[in-house]
Amino acid sequence: MGKAAPASRNRVTSTLTPVVTDEQVHDWLNLWQKRLRLEDWKIEVKIVRIWDLEQGTLGHIDWSAPRRTATIKVLNPADYELPKDKIPADMELSVVHELVHLHLSVLPLNKSSRSAEEQVVSMIADALVNLEHQPPSPE
Ligand SMILES: [Zn+2]
Repeated sequence: MGKAAPASRNRVTSTLTPVVTDEQVHDWLNLWQKRLRLEDWKIEVKIVRIWDLEQGTLGHIDWSAPRRTATIKVLNPADYELPKDKIPADMELSVVHELVHLHLSVLPLNKSSRSAEEQVVSMIADALVNLEHQPPSPE
């Protein structure tokens, strides 16, 4: 950065200093996989571009129950519409969200309950991540 840098920041994501690294995403996966007792699964996480996800989604999970393997995809910060400082927490939330889906994968797949499942997963994942990031309330 030059010494006469303008006060306003541009919104172009530099490829040199990623907002969130692969390593960070793996750390979140390890942490939440343990907390959610999913250690008997072999789970991968990938940062992908917007065209690798369903439209309007921030993450995705595919799994194989017999193999106990799963692959989580999370949106690349370059394709996020949030301010830079809000992106890491949202990517962590995506990881947690997809892991909660994995827990529910034992239930029979049922199209009619899909939106209810989505709501439940969102609420649980939000609650967990908020718990992690909120300062303890004074007593
Ligand atoms: Zn979901």
